[in-house]
Amino acid sequence: MKRDSIQDFARNEARRALQGAKRILPLALLLGGTALAQDFNDRRKVQYPDQVTADNPQRTPAIPRKQGFDGTLVLTGGRIFDSVKSAAYPGSVVIQQNKIVAVLAAGSTAWPADAKIVDVTGKTVMPGLIDMHVHSTYPTPETPADMTDSEGHATLRALRSLQMLLENGITSVRDMSGPLNAPYIISEWLEKDMAPGPRVFAAGHIITGTGGHAADRPLTPIHSAAYTREANGADDWVKAVRETYKMGASHIKIASHFAPDEVKAGVAEAHRLGLKVTCDCETIYTQMAVDAGVDSIEHPLPRTDETIKLMAQKGTASIPTMQVYQGLFDSRGVYAGTASRRFSMAAQANYDILKKMIAAGITIGVGTDNIGGSFYNTPNIYIADLKFLQKAGYSPAKALMAATRVNAQIMDMGDKLGTLEPGKLADVIVVAGNPDQNLDDLAKVEMVVRNGNIVIKDGQVYMPRHVPVPLAKPSPPETLK
Ligand SMILES: [Zn+2]
Repeated sequence: MKRDSIQDFARNEARRALQGAKRILPLALLLGGTALAQDFNDRRKVQYPDQVTADNPQRTPAIPRKQGFDGTLVLTGGRIFDSVKSAAYPGSVVIQQNKIVAVLAAGSTAWPADAKIVDVTGKTVMPGLIDMHVHSTYPTPETPADMTDSEGHATLRALRSLQMLLENGITSVRDMSGPLNAPYIISEWLEKDMAPGPRVFAAGHIITGTGGHAADRPLTPIHSAAYTREANGADDWVKAVRETYKMGASHIKIASHFAPDEVKAGVAEAHRLGLKVTCDCETIYTQMAVDAGVDSIEHPLPRTDETIKLMAQKGTASIPTMQVYQGLFDSRGVYAGTASRRFSMAAQANYDILKKMIAAGITIGVGTDNIGGSFYNTPNIYIADLKFLQKAGYSPAKALMAATRVNAQIMDMGDKLGTLEPGKLADVIVVAGNPDQNLDDLAKVEMVVRNGNIVIKDGQVYMPRHVPVPLAKPSPPETLK
Protein backbone atom coordinates (compact mmCIF):
# COMPACT_ATOMS: atom_id res chain seq x y z
CA MET A 1 0.00 0.00 0.00
CA LYS A 2 1.13 3.56 -0.68
CA ARG A 3 1.56 5.81 2.31
CA ASP A 4 -1.59 7.84 1.44
CA SER A 5 -3.76 4.79 1.19
CA ILE A 6 -2.30 3.44 4.44
CA GLN A 7 -3.24 6.71 6.14
CA ASP A 8 -6.74 6.54 4.62
CA PHE A 9 -7.07 2.96 5.76
CA ALA A 10 -5.94 3.88 9.30
CA ARG A 11 -8.36 6.85 9.39
CA ASN A 12 -11.27 4.67 8.23
CA GLU A 13 -10.44 1.97 10.78
CA ALA A 14 -10.27 4.59 13.55
CA ARG A 15 -13.62 6.06 12.45
CA ARG A 16 -15.28 2.63 12.40
CA ALA A 17 -13.86 1.79 15.83
CA LEU A 18 -15.16 5.11 17.20
CA GLN A 19 -18.63 4.49 15.76
CA GLY A 20 -18.61 1.06 17.37
CA ALA A 21 -17.49 2.53 20.70
CA LYS A 22 -20.25 5.17 20.58
CA ARG A 23 -22.84 2.44 20.18
CA ILE A 24 -21.41 0.46 23.08
CA LEU A 25 -20.54 3.30 25.46
CA PRO A 26 -24.04 4.32 26.66
CA LEU A 27 -24.88 0.68 27.35
CA ALA A 28 -21.58 0.20 29.16
CA LEU A 29 -22.24 3.28 31.29
CA LEU A 30 -25.73 2.04 32.03
CA LEU A 31 -24.65 -1.48 32.95
CA GLY A 32 -21.08 -0.84 34.10
CA GLY A 33 -21.79 -0.11 37.76
CA THR A 34 -24.23 -2.95 38.14
CA ALA A 35 -22.14 -5.42 36.20
CA LEU A 36 -18.93 -4.62 38.05
CA ALA A 37 -20.75 -4.82 41.36
CA GLN A 38 -21.73 -8.38 40.48
CA ASP A 39 -18.20 -9.73 40.68
CA PHE A 40 -15.10 -7.67 40.12
CA ASN A 41 -12.96 -10.75 40.56
CA ASP A 42 -14.19 -12.37 37.36
CA ARG A 43 -14.55 -10.35 34.20
CA ARG A 44 -16.19 -13.32 32.47
CA LYS A 45 -19.31 -12.45 34.44
CA VAL A 46 -19.31 -8.84 33.20
CA GLN A 47 -21.20 -9.03 29.93
CA TYR A 48 -22.83 -6.49 27.65
CA PRO A 49 -25.29 -8.43 25.51
CA ASP A 50 -25.30 -5.98 22.57
CA GLN A 51 -21.55 -5.81 22.26
CA VAL A 52 -20.02 -7.36 19.15
CA THR A 53 -17.02 -9.41 20.26
CA ALA A 54 -14.41 -11.74 18.85
CA ASP A 55 -15.41 -15.41 18.65
CA ASN A 56 -12.90 -16.49 21.28
CA PRO A 57 -12.85 -16.54 25.09
CA GLN A 58 -11.16 -13.11 25.31
CA ARG A 59 -14.35 -11.57 23.81
CA THR A 60 -12.60 -8.37 22.83
CA PRO A 61 -14.78 -5.82 20.97
CA ALA A 62 -14.77 -6.61 17.27
CA ILE A 63 -15.72 -4.80 14.09
CA PRO A 64 -18.40 -6.92 12.35
CA ARG A 65 -17.17 -8.48 9.10
CA LYS A 66 -18.74 -10.66 6.47
CA GLN A 67 -17.91 -14.30 7.18
CA GLY A 68 -18.81 -17.71 5.77
CA PHE A 69 -20.56 -18.79 2.58
CA ASP A 70 -22.15 -15.85 0.78
CA GLY A 71 -25.73 -17.14 0.78
CA THR A 72 -27.67 -20.01 2.35
CA LEU A 73 -26.23 -23.50 2.67
CA VAL A 74 -28.54 -26.44 3.48
CA LEU A 75 -27.45 -29.94 4.53
CA THR A 76 -30.52 -32.08 3.99
CA GLY A 77 -31.62 -35.71 4.07
CA GLY A 78 -29.29 -36.82 6.87
CA ARG A 79 -29.58 -37.91 10.49
CA ILE A 80 -29.07 -34.94 12.80
CA PHE A 81 -27.08 -35.55 15.98
CA ASP A 82 -27.26 -32.09 17.52
CA SER A 83 -25.44 -32.79 20.84
CA VAL A 84 -28.53 -31.51 22.71
CA LYS A 85 -30.72 -34.60 22.34
CA SER A 86 -29.03 -37.95 22.82
CA ALA A 87 -30.79 -39.56 19.83
CA ALA A 88 -30.31 -38.62 16.17
CA TYR A 89 -33.35 -37.58 14.11
CA PRO A 90 -34.02 -36.91 10.39
CA GLY A 91 -33.85 -33.26 9.36
CA SER A 92 -31.93 -30.41 7.72
CA VAL A 93 -29.38 -27.88 8.96
CA VAL A 94 -29.68 -24.40 7.46
CA ILE A 95 -26.61 -22.14 7.49
CA GLN A 96 -26.40 -18.47 6.54
CA GLN A 97 -23.02 -16.76 6.40
CA ASN A 98 -21.13 -18.24 9.37
CA LYS A 99 -24.12 -19.12 11.60
CA ILE A 100 -26.62 -21.94 11.91
CA VAL A 101 -30.02 -20.30 11.42
CA ALA A 102 -32.33 -23.32 11.66
CA VAL A 103 -32.46 -27.05 12.31
CA LEU A 104 -35.60 -28.23 10.50
CA ALA A 105 -37.60 -31.42 10.91
CA ALA A 106 -37.66 -33.83 7.97
CA GLY A 107 -40.11 -32.68 5.31
CA SER A 108 -39.67 -28.96 5.93
CA THR A 109 -38.06 -26.95 3.12
CA ALA A 110 -38.21 -23.54 4.79
CA TRP A 111 -35.15 -22.08 3.10
CA PRO A 112 -34.65 -19.53 0.30
CA ALA A 113 -35.14 -20.76 -3.30
CA ASP A 114 -31.53 -19.88 -4.21
CA ALA A 115 -30.01 -21.86 -1.31
CA LYS A 116 -27.12 -24.20 -2.07
CA ILE A 117 -28.44 -27.68 -1.23
CA VAL A 118 -26.16 -30.54 -0.23
CA ASP A 119 -27.84 -33.96 -0.11
CA VAL A 120 -26.43 -35.95 2.82
CA THR A 121 -28.95 -38.80 2.76
CA GLY A 122 -27.93 -41.72 4.98
CA LYS A 123 -25.17 -39.73 6.71
CA THR A 124 -24.89 -38.15 10.14
CA VAL A 125 -24.74 -34.37 10.52
CA MET A 126 -23.25 -33.25 13.83
CA PRO A 127 -21.34 -30.39 15.46
CA GLY A 128 -17.63 -30.13 14.69
CA LEU A 129 -15.44 -32.05 17.13
CA ILE A 130 -13.22 -30.21 19.61
CA ASP A 131 -9.80 -31.37 20.83
CA MET A 132 -9.10 -29.78 24.20
CA HIS A 133 -5.38 -30.55 24.31
CA VAL A 134 -3.01 -30.28 21.35
CA HIS A 135 0.45 -28.86 20.75
CA SER A 136 0.11 -27.91 17.11
CA THR A 137 3.35 -25.92 16.86
CA TYR A 138 5.65 -28.58 18.33
CA PRO A 139 8.39 -30.20 16.25
CA THR A 140 7.32 -33.01 13.94
CA PRO A 141 9.67 -35.86 12.97
CA GLU A 142 10.76 -33.81 9.92
CA THR A 143 11.85 -30.78 11.96
CA PRO A 144 15.57 -29.95 11.74
CA ALA A 145 17.17 -29.68 15.19
CA ASP A 146 18.00 -26.00 14.72
CA MET A 147 14.37 -25.12 13.87
CA THR A 148 12.55 -26.31 17.02
CA ASP A 149 12.37 -22.77 18.46
CA SER A 150 11.76 -20.97 15.17
CA GLU A 151 8.45 -19.06 15.19
CA GLY A 152 8.15 -19.32 11.41
CA HIS A 153 8.87 -23.04 11.32
CA ALA A 154 6.54 -23.65 14.27
CA THR A 155 3.67 -21.75 12.61
CA LEU A 156 4.05 -23.77 9.40
CA ARG A 157 4.27 -27.01 11.41
CA ALA A 158 0.98 -26.06 13.03
CA LEU A 159 -0.65 -25.42 9.67
CA ARG A 160 0.30 -28.93 8.52
CA SER A 161 -0.61 -30.70 11.77
CA LEU A 162 -3.92 -28.88 12.18
CA GLN A 163 -4.99 -29.72 8.63
CA MET A 164 -4.90 -33.41 9.58
CA LEU A 165 -7.34 -32.65 12.41
CA LEU A 166 -9.66 -30.65 10.16
CA GLU A 167 -9.81 -33.51 7.63
CA ASN A 168 -11.14 -35.63 10.49
CA GLY A 169 -13.86 -33.26 11.62
CA ILE A 170 -12.02 -31.44 14.41
CA THR A 171 -13.06 -27.82 13.97
CA SER A 172 -11.70 -26.33 17.22
CA VAL A 173 -8.67 -27.02 19.38
CA ARG A 174 -7.27 -25.72 22.63
CA ASP A 175 -3.58 -25.29 21.91
CA MET A 176 -1.74 -26.04 25.12
CA SER A 177 1.70 -24.49 24.70
CA GLY A 178 4.18 -23.75 21.97
CA PRO A 179 7.17 -21.52 21.26
CA LEU A 180 7.09 -17.72 21.46
CA ASN A 181 4.28 -16.15 19.39
CA ALA A 182 3.73 -19.13 17.07
CA PRO A 183 0.50 -20.35 18.78
CA TYR A 184 -1.00 -16.85 18.58
CA ILE A 185 0.02 -16.33 14.96
CA ILE A 186 -1.65 -19.57 13.83
CA SER A 187 -4.69 -18.73 15.97
CA GLU A 188 -5.14 -15.28 14.37
CA TRP A 189 -4.53 -16.62 10.88
CA LEU A 190 -7.18 -19.34 11.21
CA GLU A 191 -9.65 -17.05 13.00
CA LYS A 192 -9.69 -15.02 9.78
CA ASP A 193 -10.28 -18.12 7.60
CA MET A 194 -6.91 -17.55 5.86
CA ALA A 195 -6.08 -21.28 5.58
CA PRO A 196 -7.76 -24.66 6.14
CA GLY A 197 -7.67 -25.52 9.84
CA PRO A 198 -9.69 -25.61 13.04
CA ARG A 199 -10.24 -22.64 15.33
CA VAL A 200 -7.22 -22.41 17.62
CA PHE A 201 -7.74 -21.22 21.18
CA ALA A 202 -4.15 -20.76 22.30
CA ALA A 203 -2.50 -20.79 25.71
CA GLY A 204 0.91 -19.76 24.35
CA HIS A 205 3.60 -20.82 26.79
CA ILE A 206 3.24 -22.85 30.00
CA ILE A 207 3.61 -20.98 33.27
CA THR A 208 5.50 -22.98 35.89
CA GLY A 209 7.94 -22.51 38.76
CA THR A 210 11.66 -22.54 37.92
CA GLY A 211 12.56 -26.13 37.08
CA GLY A 212 8.88 -27.10 36.90
CA HIS A 213 7.19 -29.27 34.27
CA ALA A 214 8.52 -28.50 30.78
CA ALA A 215 11.40 -26.51 32.28
CA ASP A 216 13.06 -29.35 34.17
CA ARG A 217 16.14 -31.43 33.47
CA PRO A 218 16.91 -33.20 31.27
CA LEU A 219 16.03 -30.35 28.90
CA THR A 220 14.75 -31.48 25.53
CA PRO A 221 14.37 -29.44 22.32
CA ILE A 222 10.61 -29.22 22.85
CA HIS A 223 10.98 -27.98 26.37
CA SER A 224 13.28 -25.05 25.77
CA ALA A 225 12.78 -21.59 27.28
CA ALA A 226 10.73 -20.62 24.19
CA TYR A 227 7.91 -22.91 25.37
CA THR A 228 7.70 -21.90 29.04
CA ARG A 229 7.53 -18.89 31.36
CA GLU A 230 9.14 -19.72 34.68
CA ALA A 231 7.62 -17.65 37.49
CA ASN A 232 8.59 -17.34 41.13
CA GLY A 233 6.63 -15.73 43.95
CA ALA A 234 2.98 -14.61 43.90
CA ASP A 235 3.78 -11.23 42.29
CA ASP A 236 5.68 -12.88 39.46
CA TRP A 237 2.85 -15.34 38.87
CA VAL A 238 0.49 -12.36 38.47
CA LYS A 239 2.98 -10.76 36.08
CA ALA A 240 3.35 -13.98 34.07
CA VAL A 241 -0.44 -14.25 33.68
CA ARG A 242 -0.67 -10.62 32.54
CA GLU A 243 2.16 -11.12 30.03
CA THR A 244 0.41 -14.20 28.64
CA TYR A 245 -2.88 -12.32 28.37
CA LYS A 246 -1.09 -9.48 26.56
CA MET A 247 0.40 -11.91 24.04
CA GLY A 248 -3.13 -13.02 23.11
CA ALA A 249 -3.93 -16.11 25.18
CA SER A 250 -7.46 -17.54 25.11
CA HIS A 251 -6.78 -19.34 28.38
CA ILE A 252 -3.92 -19.78 30.79
CA LYS A 253 -2.02 -23.05 31.14
CA ILE A 254 -0.06 -23.63 34.32
CA ALA A 255 1.97 -26.66 35.37
CA SER A 256 3.48 -28.01 38.54
CA HIS A 257 5.44 -27.00 40.45
CA PHE A 258 4.30 -23.98 42.45
CA ALA A 259 3.45 -22.95 45.99
CA PRO A 260 -0.13 -22.41 47.20
CA ASP A 261 0.19 -18.59 47.25
CA GLU A 262 1.65 -18.58 43.72
CA VAL A 263 -1.13 -20.63 42.13
CA LYS A 264 -3.81 -18.69 44.04
CA ALA A 265 -2.41 -15.38 42.79
CA GLY A 266 -2.11 -16.62 39.20
CA VAL A 267 -5.62 -18.11 39.03
CA ALA A 268 -7.20 -15.02 40.63
CA GLU A 269 -5.47 -12.70 38.16
CA ALA A 270 -6.50 -14.83 35.16
CA HIS A 271 -10.12 -14.74 36.33
CA ARG A 272 -9.98 -10.98 36.81
CA LEU A 273 -8.78 -10.76 33.19
CA GLY A 274 -11.65 -13.00 32.09
CA LEU A 275 -9.60 -16.10 31.26
CA LYS A 276 -9.96 -19.64 32.49
CA VAL A 277 -6.99 -21.57 33.85
CA THR A 278 -6.12 -25.19 33.29
CA CYS A 279 -3.40 -27.09 35.14
CA ASP A 280 -1.07 -29.88 34.04
CA CYS A 281 -0.23 -31.23 37.48
CA GLU A 282 -0.28 -34.22 39.82
CA THR A 283 -0.38 -35.27 43.47
CA ILE A 284 -0.19 -32.33 45.91
CA TYR A 285 -0.13 -29.79 43.06
CA THR A 286 -3.54 -30.91 41.82
CA GLN A 287 -4.95 -30.37 45.29
CA MET A 288 -3.33 -26.90 45.49
CA ALA A 289 -4.62 -25.92 42.06
CA VAL A 290 -8.18 -27.11 42.73
CA ASP A 291 -8.12 -25.33 46.07
CA ALA A 292 -6.98 -22.14 44.28
CA GLY A 293 -10.03 -22.30 41.96
CA VAL A 294 -8.42 -23.58 38.76
CA ASP A 295 -11.06 -24.39 36.11
CA SER A 296 -9.77 -27.72 34.83
CA ILE A 297 -7.04 -30.34 35.30
CA GLU A 298 -5.25 -31.97 32.37
CA HIS A 299 -4.30 -35.65 32.19
CA PRO A 300 -5.19 -38.61 34.43
CA LEU A 301 -2.14 -38.13 36.68
CA PRO A 302 -2.30 -39.39 40.28
CA ARG A 303 -4.42 -37.52 42.81
CA THR A 304 -6.05 -38.52 46.07
CA ASP A 305 -9.69 -39.40 46.66
CA GLU A 306 -9.90 -36.19 48.69
CA THR A 307 -8.77 -34.17 45.65
CA ILE A 308 -11.32 -35.91 43.42
CA LYS A 309 -14.03 -35.04 45.95
CA LEU A 310 -12.86 -31.43 46.02
CA MET A 311 -12.89 -31.26 42.18
CA ALA A 312 -16.52 -32.44 42.20
CA GLN A 313 -17.49 -29.95 44.92
CA LYS A 314 -15.84 -26.99 43.19
CA GLY A 315 -16.91 -27.91 39.65
CA THR A 316 -13.33 -28.38 38.41
CA ALA A 317 -13.43 -30.11 35.02
CA SER A 318 -11.07 -32.84 33.84
CA ILE A 319 -9.49 -33.46 30.42
CA PRO A 320 -8.11 -36.97 31.00
CA THR A 321 -6.09 -37.42 27.71
CA MET A 322 -6.06 -41.19 28.32
CA GLN A 323 -4.55 -42.50 25.09
CA VAL A 324 -1.29 -40.54 25.23
CA TYR A 325 -0.48 -42.19 28.56
CA GLN A 326 -1.69 -45.58 27.32
CA GLY A 327 0.80 -45.14 24.46
CA LEU A 328 3.59 -44.66 27.01
CA PHE A 329 2.46 -47.71 28.99
CA ASP A 330 2.37 -49.74 25.76
CA SER A 331 5.89 -48.74 24.75
CA ARG A 332 7.60 -48.50 28.15
CA GLY A 333 5.32 -50.37 30.54
CA VAL A 334 5.20 -47.46 32.96
CA TYR A 335 5.06 -43.67 33.09
CA ALA A 336 8.04 -42.40 35.07
CA GLY A 337 8.00 -38.69 35.84
CA THR A 338 10.70 -36.15 35.22
CA ALA A 339 12.59 -34.26 37.95
CA SER A 340 9.54 -32.13 38.75
CA ARG A 341 7.21 -35.13 38.74
CA ARG A 342 8.23 -37.60 41.40
CA PHE A 343 5.80 -40.41 40.74
CA SER A 344 5.31 -43.30 38.40
CA MET A 345 2.13 -45.03 37.31
CA ALA A 346 0.85 -47.77 35.03
CA ALA A 347 -2.24 -48.47 32.92
CA GLN A 348 -4.65 -49.67 35.61
CA ALA A 349 -3.94 -46.77 37.97
CA ASN A 350 -4.45 -44.40 35.05
CA TYR A 351 -7.85 -45.90 34.26
CA ASP A 352 -8.86 -46.08 37.94
CA ILE A 353 -8.48 -42.27 38.21
CA LEU A 354 -10.83 -41.83 35.23
CA LYS A 355 -13.44 -44.17 36.74
CA LYS A 356 -13.28 -42.41 40.11
CA MET A 357 -13.70 -38.99 38.47
CA ILE A 358 -16.74 -40.16 36.48
CA ALA A 359 -18.25 -41.74 39.61
CA ALA A 360 -17.75 -38.46 41.50
CA GLY A 361 -19.71 -36.60 38.80
CA ILE A 362 -16.78 -34.51 37.55
CA THR A 363 -17.27 -32.81 34.16
CA ILE A 364 -15.12 -34.68 31.64
CA GLY A 365 -13.85 -33.08 28.41
CA VAL A 366 -12.05 -34.75 25.51
CA GLY A 367 -8.48 -33.99 24.44
CA THR A 368 -5.65 -36.00 22.93
CA ASP A 369 -2.40 -34.21 23.90
CA ASN A 370 -1.53 -34.53 20.21
CA ILE A 371 2.06 -33.46 19.77
CA GLY A 372 4.57 -33.67 16.92
CA GLY A 373 4.43 -37.04 15.18
CA SER A 374 1.25 -38.17 16.95
CA PHE A 375 -0.81 -35.93 14.62
CA TYR A 376 -0.19 -38.62 12.01
CA ASN A 377 -2.31 -40.97 14.20
CA THR A 378 -5.40 -38.82 13.70
CA PRO A 379 -8.24 -39.76 14.03
CA ASN A 380 -7.23 -42.99 15.80
CA ILE A 381 -5.90 -41.24 18.91
CA TYR A 382 -9.08 -39.14 19.21
CA ILE A 383 -11.38 -42.16 18.79
CA ALA A 384 -9.27 -44.08 21.34
CA ASP A 385 -9.80 -41.32 23.92
CA LEU A 386 -13.58 -41.53 23.36
CA LYS A 387 -13.43 -45.31 23.72
CA PHE A 388 -11.86 -44.93 27.17
CA LEU A 389 -15.01 -43.00 28.14
CA GLN A 390 -17.16 -45.71 26.58
CA LYS A 391 -15.31 -48.40 28.52
CA ALA A 392 -15.94 -46.39 31.69
CA GLY A 393 -19.70 -46.37 31.06
CA TYR A 394 -20.45 -43.57 28.57
CA SER A 395 -22.72 -44.36 25.62
CA PRO A 396 -21.21 -43.38 22.24
CA ALA A 397 -23.73 -40.49 22.11
CA LYS A 398 -22.65 -39.23 25.54
CA ALA A 399 -18.99 -39.46 24.48
CA LEU A 400 -19.78 -37.36 21.39
CA MET A 401 -21.55 -34.79 23.59
CA ALA A 402 -18.41 -34.58 25.74
CA ALA A 403 -16.36 -34.09 22.56
CA THR A 404 -18.55 -31.21 21.38
CA ARG A 405 -20.93 -29.50 23.83
CA VAL A 406 -19.05 -30.18 27.07
CA ASN A 407 -15.71 -29.21 25.53
CA ALA A 408 -17.18 -25.92 24.30
CA GLN A 409 -18.59 -25.18 27.76
CA ILE A 410 -15.26 -25.89 29.48
CA MET A 411 -13.61 -23.39 27.09
CA ASP A 412 -16.19 -20.64 27.78
CA MET A 413 -17.44 -21.10 24.20
CA GLY A 414 -20.68 -22.94 25.03
CA ASP A 415 -22.80 -20.06 23.71
CA LYS A 416 -21.10 -20.20 20.30
CA LEU A 417 -19.93 -23.76 19.65
CA GLY A 418 -20.60 -27.41 20.48
CA THR A 419 -24.22 -27.98 19.34
CA LEU A 420 -26.37 -27.67 16.24
CA GLU A 421 -28.71 -24.90 17.34
CA PRO A 422 -29.85 -21.66 15.72
CA GLY A 423 -27.43 -18.84 16.51
CA LYS A 424 -24.36 -21.04 16.92
CA LEU A 425 -21.30 -20.63 14.71
CA ALA A 426 -21.58 -22.95 11.70
CA ASP A 427 -18.98 -25.62 12.50
CA VAL A 428 -20.76 -28.72 11.18
CA ILE A 429 -19.49 -32.11 10.00
CA VAL A 430 -20.99 -34.88 7.89
CA VAL A 431 -20.03 -38.46 8.74
CA ALA A 432 -20.68 -41.48 6.49
CA GLY A 433 -21.97 -43.65 9.32
CA ASN A 434 -23.60 -43.49 12.74
CA PRO A 435 -20.88 -42.33 15.17
CA ASP A 436 -23.50 -41.80 17.89
CA GLN A 437 -23.92 -45.60 17.84
CA ASN A 438 -20.45 -46.72 16.77
CA LEU A 439 -17.48 -44.48 17.62
CA ASP A 440 -15.33 -46.10 14.90
CA ASP A 441 -17.55 -44.37 12.34
CA LEU A 442 -15.85 -41.10 13.32
CA ALA A 443 -13.07 -42.19 10.96
CA LYS A 444 -15.49 -41.56 8.07
CA VAL A 445 -15.75 -37.77 8.06
CA GLU A 446 -16.68 -36.73 4.53
CA MET A 447 -17.49 -33.07 4.76
CA VAL A 448 -16.56 -30.25 7.12
CA VAL A 449 -18.19 -26.84 7.29
CA ARG A 450 -16.12 -24.47 9.40
CA ASN A 451 -17.32 -20.93 10.11
CA GLY A 452 -19.93 -21.38 7.37
CA ASN A 453 -17.43 -22.39 4.66
CA ILE A 454 -17.15 -25.88 3.16
CA VAL A 455 -13.49 -26.66 3.92
CA ILE A 456 -13.46 -30.46 3.52
CA LYS A 457 -15.32 -32.03 0.60
CA ASP A 458 -15.25 -35.79 -0.14
CA GLY A 459 -12.75 -36.12 2.72
CA GLN A 460 -10.23 -33.70 1.24
CA VAL A 461 -9.31 -30.06 1.76
CA TYR A 462 -11.42 -27.83 -0.42
CA MET A 463 -10.29 -24.28 -1.12
CA PRO A 464 -12.17 -22.21 -3.66
CA ARG A 465 -10.15 -19.98 -5.99
CA HIS A 466 -9.72 -16.44 -4.74
CA VAL A 467 -12.08 -13.91 -6.26
CA PRO A 468 -9.96 -11.33 -8.14
CA VAL A 469 -10.35 -7.76 -6.88
CA PRO A 470 -10.58 -5.35 -9.84
CA LEU A 471 -7.94 -2.65 -10.17
CA ALA A 472 -9.06 0.74 -8.87
CA LYS A 473 -8.95 2.27 -12.38
CA PRO A 474 -8.90 0.77 -15.86
CA SER A 475 -5.34 0.24 -16.94
CA PRO A 476 -3.27 1.08 -18.93
CA PRO A 477 -4.74 4.62 -18.72
CA GLU A 478 -6.22 5.99 -21.94
CA THR A 479 -4.31 9.23 -21.31
CA LEU A 480 -1.02 7.48 -22.13
CA LYS A 481 0.28 8.48 -25.59
ZN1 LIG B 1 0.26 -31.48 26.67
